[in-house]
Amino acid sequence: MTIKKIFLMVITFYLLFAQEYAGLPILPSDLEVRNIIFFIGDGMGISQIQAARIKSKGALGRLNMELMPVVGLVNTCAADKLITDSGAGGTALASGIKTNIGAIGVDPSGMPYCTILEACQKIGKSTGLVVTSSITHATPATFAAHVPTRMAESEIAEQLIYRKVNVLLGGGRAFFLPKKIKGSKRSDNRDLIKTAKELGYTVVEDKSALMNAKADYLLGLFQMEHMKNDPVEPTLAEMTKKAIEILTKDPDGFFLMVEGSQIDWECHANQVGGMIEQVLMFDEAVKAGLEFALKDSHTIVIVTADHETGGLGITGGMLDGSDLNCGWLSKDHTAVMVPIFAFGPKAIMFTGVKENIEIPRILAKIAGLDSLPVKCR
Ligand SMILES: [Zn+2]
Repeated sequence: MTIKKIFLMVITFYLLFAQEYAGLPILPSDLEVRNIIFFIGDGMGISQIQAARIKSKGALGRLNMELMPVVGLVNTCAADKLITDSGAGGTALASGIKTNIGAIGVDPSGMPYCTILEACQKIGKSTGLVVTSSITHATPATFAAHVPTRMAESEIAEQLIYRKVNVLLGGGRAFFLPKKIKGSKRSDNRDLIKTAKELGYTVVEDKSALMNAKADYLLGLFQMEHMKNDPVEPTLAEMTKKAIEILTKDPDGFFLMVEGSQIDWECHANQVGGMIEQVLMFDEAVKAGLEFALKDSHTIVIVTADHETGGLGITGGMLDGSDLNCGWLSKDHTAVMVPIFAFGPKAIMFTGVKENIEIPRILAKIAGLDSLPVKCR
């Protein structure tokens, strides 16, 4: 037996028997669901999760999301296309309707449909959106805005703050600053930072201001456009923790959506290393959500994706994660099913194969909200 074989046997033994497998428990179904934490890994399919796990923990390790006890599969197609985008994909996950690609919170005829966030607001819950893209990007927009196209980011910025979402954290300052200011991406001269303050928001622009903020309404815009993972910014996990800290003050409970926005972009670029980094950042945020939910026991946490991106496959590598080999089929989204992980009371409802539109419908049902889908007003 060669030294290499002995070494591999030792590693395999370690991976098999010395690692933590204990997943999270299945909570009793009779517990009331007061809070919803909805994690979306944009573009995150099973291979993305698997590659991040193998690389960071070895083949037999577990990411935080993989410790969640209930797992299902989600079909992602849009109303008009087999292969969806974040507009139609987000609208399905937020409002429970299939729509055309590019649409935000409206059906193919342009009719706005109530989102799960809005349904939570309606019964007095606090709400939050936390992302690493611009906060006006498609996924967060689908939870609190209704516009025919995802390109309407000036309009989306306006709708997000008038909707009075309690916590809005991410990039996208350029869509809140008047057109005359350098770097603005607004189509008009409205100053939405000023408007946000008038509406009661505390506005923060860096990590330390975020950490010190004590507010019922918090708008954090940490970059002009998308977040860059630089030290003045909070991480996705830090933003998630802060959002939970603010939202838990509401005795009626809360809804929080957290997006790992840039997993998708690394997959579009077919960058395995960058993709893994983004999945792991996202998984740290999931950990923050799960830690809260474990203590609280009235919180349902789900982790899913709007679609897979890149058609990623794992074609080779070692058990310890070295020499990982991946192949990409595409530079775009694919139609492959994505996983959903669930933890919390009634999590079992998410098992099996689901259409994306079933996810918010189930959430509304188990949290005692008005049933979805429903037209706005
Ligand atoms: Zn994409």
